Amino acid sequence: MKIENLCVRRLIGDVAGATTHGHKMAVKGGYIYQTFQGGYTLSPLGWRVVRNIENIIRQEMDGIDGQEILMPVVSGADIWRESGRYDTVDVLAKFKGRSGTDYVLNPTHEEVVVDYVKSVLETYRQMPFMVYQIQTKFRDELRARAGLIRTREFIMKDAYSFHETQDDLELYYNRCHSAYERIFSRCGLKNVVSVLSSTGDMGGSVAHEFQLINDMGEDTIFLCECGFKTNKELIDEETETCPKCGKKMNKVRGIEIGNIFQLGKKYSESMNLTYTSPDGEQKNPIMGCYGIGVGRTMAAIMEESADDKGPIWNMATAPFAVEVIGLPDKEGKTLPLAEKIYNDLKSAGIETILDNRDARAGEKFADADLIAAPIRLIVSAKNLANNAIEVKYRVNDIDTSEYKTSFGLDTYMSETVDTILKLLGK
Ligand SMILES: [Zn+2]
Repeated sequence: MKIENLCVRRLIGDVAGATTHGHKMAVKGGYIYQTFQGGYTLSPLGWRVVRNIENIIRQEMDGIDGQEILMPVVSGADIWRESGRYDTVDVLAKFKGRSGTDYVLNPTHEEVVVDYVKSVLETYRQMPFMVYQIQTKFRDELRARAGLIRTREFIMKDAYSFHETQDDLELYYNRCHSAYERIFSRCGLKNVVSVLSSTGDMGGSVAHEFQLINDMGEDTIFLCECGFKTNKELIDEETETCPKCGKKMNKVRGIEIGNIFQLGKKYSESMNLTYTSPDGEQKNPIMGCYGIGVGRTMAAIMEESADDKGPIWNMATAPFAVEVIGLPDKEGKTLPLAEKIYNDLKSAGIETILDNRDARAGEKFADADLIAAPIRLIVSAKNLANNAIEVKYRVNDIDTSEYKTSFGLDTYMSETVDTILKLLGK
């Protein structure tokens, strides 16, 4: 990609109307564009980051034997009436088709997935299994805030597991808990905790929220030195004492980026999902469900890591791995060389962006901070005199102070590949 063709509007100077630092940097860097209150277009930069996060999620969900599916955004009202939630979920957006059919925009997919699994599940031998999707959802929230933190339309990974016994559900729930820890860590998030939560609208018994501890969060969470962590629903907010050890808990703000629930039989009973047990009886499976806000994870990374110059990604989430910046010289050598390096990297399958525009160096560097490729190769007359190109890093949570500050003109390909692998921890 050449920077002049990148369909992204970056802003110089201050951004008006953004409520948090991360939101400001998402707008300044042109990662998101508000199409309506609570609905955003992801720009080529934002979409690249989101797809990278999705790929991390896919790998980890497949790693715990998840099977990816795709359910529709819209469903008929009938399955929501069947589960009993048609009139009780306040964020459910309803509309009528021209033929008079009642539809909903799914804010979550328990009803749709149970309806699907009814067509598949026959015997206990098929369980356990988990299906998941990465899909758009709509919640008719009364208020929207802070960019991608609370939106009406959003991309979510939602997963549903099916079990014969509570013990089996708990085993799988713990596997999923560990997978979530790996996902958020691979995304470069540092201060994520899982807290015990109430199951709310979802029904069921045990639930955890994955919260990024951050002052910009809209949730209040309580952490105790004994290790107990919970959200405000499960403690007495007057006294703020730990239900486990009785000490006063530490109150912090959090951004909820994921949640996992032990649903029990709420949906399998209400929607009559059954299987044949070993002794020939018809039984309802026990379910778990597991969500991650994908766009919100991107927003959370920006809240936690962006500096005053722009977002900072790690190699796994960055929109581009490398930016090649050509600084024009009098002999006309630098720009063709920058273009050659760009073409070489691109041919090797490395996500690369080229800035060969006729602009001041300071302007190009400021723009590069917004695009935030972890590796920047700078082709200037000064370094060419030493048969070298300059290397700069902008990367989340890795100390690059000992990394090379220049690559050789004959060796930049292998040096770039080595550095990418190193930044990926490989
Ligand atoms: Zn405690």
